[in-house]
Amino acid sequence: MSSILDRLGIRPLIAAGGPNTNHSGTRPRPEVFTAMIEMSETFVRMDELLIAAGKEIARMIGVPAATITTGASGGLVLQSAAAIAKDDPKAIAQLPITDGLPHELIIQRSQRFGYDHLYMVPGGRFVEAGTEEGCTAKEMSDAVGPDTAGIIYVITSGRAGPSVSLEEAIDVAHSHGLPLLLDAASALPPRANLTKYVNMGADLVSFSGGKAVRGLQSTGMLLGDPKWIEYARLNNAPNSTVARAQKVSKEEIVGLIAALDAFLAVDEEEETASYRRDMQLIVDQVAEVPGVTASVKHDDDFRLPHAVIEFGESWRGPSSIEIGKAFLAGEPRIYLRHGDSRVNGIAVDPLNIQPGELEIVAETVRSTLVRATSGERLNA
Ligand SMILES: *Cc1c(COP(=O)(O)O)cnc(C)c1O
Repeated sequence: MSSILDRLGIRPLIAAGGPNTNHSGTRPRPEVFTAMIEMSETFVRMDELLIAAGKEIARMIGVPAATITTGASGGLVLQSAAAIAKDDPKAIAQLPITDGLPHELIIQRSQRFGYDHLYMVPGGRFVEAGTEEGCTAKEMSDAVGPDTAGIIYVITSGRAGPSVSLEEAIDVAHSHGLPLLLDAASALPPRANLTKYVNMGADLVSFSGGKAVRGLQSTGMLLGDPKWIEYARLNNAPNSTVARAQKVSKEEIVGLIAALDAFLAVDEEEETASYRRDMQLIVDQVAEVPGVTASVKHDDDFRLPHAVIEFGESWRGPSSIEIGKAFLAGEPRIYLRHGDSRVNGIAVDPLNIQPGELEIVAETVRSTLVRATSGERLNA
C-alpha cells in the first residue's frame, strides 16, 4: 500500500485508537472485498436487493426487520424521516419541508450528543426534556404535544449524564403512540446488543457497519419493527427522497452482509480473552513509568478490552491531548485514544492493531512516556 501513499505524499498510521472516522475507521475483513468484487460484475434491481438484504440481515441477527444505511449516521437521518413522513408519498416528497406534518422530536437535554443534528436533516426539530442534571419520565411525557413525531434516545458510554432509562423512554413513546428512535452506533460488542434494544421495544435502532462489525466505513444498519423499517426504506435512496444523497451501492450492501457473517461467527469469549492478553502486554510495559497507572479495562466505556493508561497526581509529562499529538507526529506514527472524556491519559483499543504492530505500540508507548515524564520535549 505504500506506493499509493507515496504517490499522494501522506504517511500511514498504526491505528491503536479504535475505529475512529477521522483516523480512517476500521479494517474491513477480506470476505467483504470478495463479496464486493463478485457483486461488481452483477446487475440487479436495487429495490429488490435492498429488501432482500434487509430480510437476510434481520434473519442473521434475529430481529423482525432491518435495512441498510450509510453508516449509523445515515440511519439517524432515516429514523427522523420515517417518524415524520411515514409511508405517505406526498410527505416523503415534501421533506425537509415539514409544513402540516408533526416533526418535533423529543430529546433529553442531558442526552444531546455530537451527531444529533442528523435528526434535523429531514426537517426534524428538537424539543428538549429535562435539564443538564437529568430528566424524569414524567418530564419526557409532558414534552409530548400535537407536533411530536418521535422520541430520541442514545446509548452512550457508562459515564454519560443521568437520563430516563431506555425502558422508561420506550414506555413513554408507546403510551403516546410514538416511535422510539435509538442511536446504538457503537454499542458493539457485546453482540447480544444487536437484538437487545429491539427486543426491549425500540422501534428503530441504528448500528455502525464500520466499527466493530468491520464492514466498510460507509455502511450501517437500521434494525427494528417491520412497519418502521419499511417507512425508513421508503424514505431512503435509491428513491428520490431527502436521503437520496445517502446512496448505498450494491457492492456495499453485499459487503455488509459478508462482514456481519464473519462478525457473528466469532466466539466472543475467545475474542475477549485474546484482546485482554494483548492489552495486558501494553499495561506490563508501562508498569514502571512514574506517574501513570495502567490497567486493562472492559466495561460500558470500553466495549473491547483496552489498555488504559491514566496520568496521576505525580505525572510530570504533557497533557493527554499533547501526548496524543506527539504519537501522531512520531515515527512510527501511532493513533491512540487521547483527549477523551473517559480517561485522563491515553488508551489503546485492540480492534485495528495488525499482526506485528502490538509490540511496536507497546515499546513506543513505553519509551515515549518515559521521555515525556523526564521532561524531554516531544515534537508534536
Ligand atoms: C460512531 C457513532 C455514530 C456515527 O456512526 P457512523 O457509522 O460513523 O456513521 C453515531 N452515533 C454514535 C453514538 C456513534 O458512536
